[in-house]
Amino acid sequence: SNERSLNFLEEIIEKSLADGAVKQIHTRFPPEPNGYLHIGHAKSICLNFGLAKRYGGLCNLRFDDTNPVKEDVEYVDSIKEDVNWLGFQWAEEHYASDYFEQLYDWAVELIRKGKAYVDDQSQEEIRLNRGTVTVPGKESPWRNRSVEENLDLFARMRAGEFADGEKVLRAKIDMAHPNMLLRDPIMYRILHSEHHRTGDKWCIYPMYDYAHGQSDSIEGITHSICTLEFDVHRPLYDWFIQQLGIFESHQYEFARLNLTYTMMSKRKLLQCVQEGIVMGWDDPRMPTICGLRRRGYTPESIRMFADKVGVAKRDNVIDLGLLEFCVREDLNKRAERRMAVLNPIKVVITNYPEGETEMISCVNNPEDESAGHREVPFSREVYIERDDFMEVPPKKYFRLSPGNEVRLRYAYLIRCNEVIKNEQGEIVELRCTYDPMSKGGQSSDGRKVKGVIHWVSAPHAKEAEIRLFDRLFTRESLDDIEEGKTFKDYLNPASLTVMKGYVEPSLAGTAPGSKYQFERIGYFCADKDSSIEKPVFNRTVTLKDSWSK
Ligand code: ATP
Ligand code: MG
Ligand code: MG
Repeated sequence: SNERSLNFLEEIIEKSLADGAVKQIHTRFPPEPNGYLHIGHAKSICLNFGLAKRYGGLCNLRFDDTNPVKEDVEYVDSIKEDVNWLGFQWAEEHYASDYFEQLYDWAVELIRKGKAYVDDQSQEEIRLNRGTVTVPGKESPWRNRSVEENLDLFARMRAGEFADGEKVLRAKIDMAHPNMLLRDPIMYRILHSEHHRTGDKWCIYPMYDYAHGQSDSIEGITHSICTLEFDVHRPLYDWFIQQLGIFESHQYEFARLNLTYTMMSKRKLLQCVQEGIVMGWDDPRMPTICGLRRRGYTPESIRMFADKVGVAKRDNVIDLGLLEFCVREDLNKRAERRMAVLNPIKVVITNYPEGETEMISCVNNPEDESAGHREVPFSREVYIERDDFMEVPPKKYFRLSPGNEVRLRYAYLIRCNEVIKNEQGEIVELRCTYDPMSKGGQSSDGRKVKGVIHWVSAPHAKEAEIRLFDRLFTRESLDDIEEGKTFKDYLNPASLTVMKGYVEPSLAGTAPGSKYQFERIGYFCADKDSSIEKPVFNRTVTLKDSWSK
């Protein structure tokens, strides 16, 4: 029933279900609420929720909120909205902070077993004494404190007797271990900082490596899926679980999503927002899920993209063109067609009765018959696209030119007779005649007219603000920027072009988020700034791939 072969995670899951090692799979998506979700997170969401769905399992949403300094409820709310919007519903909603008491008890248990100790060295000393890959680390002078002393100090750390950085709790593993992460990793640090959920209840906070695996275990996560850079953390993940003898969650790593021309560091995206480089987290040029949503992406297109990217075991970079391909595919099926003229030139049809309006029937979506038809007004004056006229056309130019005939989509054939210019020699108007027998677009005598152009009736047209977006960066890779430069040196100055265009009257008052194909131009989405008085449309994507090759 599948068109594609199983990816390595599906193979692992099918094997563990088949041999009975796992009865029901349980995954989780574990964001840190320190920013908005981006397309990389979407990949992870589709993977975790998708696997649970495919194998009749469950997927939790867990907020990895162990660093109070950078976290906020604003981010929690946006993350929930984005996961839902992508089309997924979590089985359980959890917060690592809900496990602080349990994690503390387990830390005490490790102290009792002689597997953890309080260290008085500064973070800097700890770092320097960790050694290098080739040089073993130096044991801390505090490493062999008695269990009693460690229990006492750890309790006093919790009670707030020490300042930030004065002490840490470390796992007692092996200061000469070839894997640097096992050289007595820090489990707790002191941070007198208010937490967005636990307030000032805690002044010690668990480190990622200690909190993550134990949270997985508490929730009975069978497949803890994370990105490749965590593969070196896996032995530590397993070590804590083994020492505590708790439910054995297992970690599996896949390659994170990298996209050309796209920056996915939350810290740097925050910088773009804070410095006003973009309009906000939901700026349509941002790779955030809310940015893509505002741009006009659909959940279906993002899920299709995640599926096409697949699951790799090795780092790679995906062409941004693939994401655009997916939204084009999806919108082609679902977006109704409308006519809009972005760069207008006026056409006066001299033999059309003055003051008359007639309604022209237009197909809403040639890909979807059920979308039906709509009536669009036509009159003596219409706007056409400036690009659809050439005074001195090259060979094989089938659009409008002096003496030449073209078809106005769904309406009539017109012929250009006269070009009106202003004093600067710019074309301001075209005088044409129409063939009254050609309504719907066919000539009555069988003469062939190749060119078809779109139009909007001038007296009926609605003025609209059109926002054309391009890549935010001019550089394909933002991960290997040379010394002395930052991502700000590679901002695309033309990433946003605002135009004044004319749209069909039916587009006035269209609800924000409505998606259309503007015939011959691209896919557009009504922006949240749009109003009846002033419609605003974002270009989601051009009709054809114009740059990735
Ligand atoms: P940053 O380092 O910018 O803070 P992060 O990866 O730490 O980002 P988290 O909130 O911790 O952000 O990520 C939540 C989940 O999403 C993690 O499981 C992480 O592996 C996954 N994830 C984040 N970025 C990507 C990506 N580019 N591709 C695939 N998965 C990703
Ligand atoms: Mg992070
Ligand atoms: Mg992370």
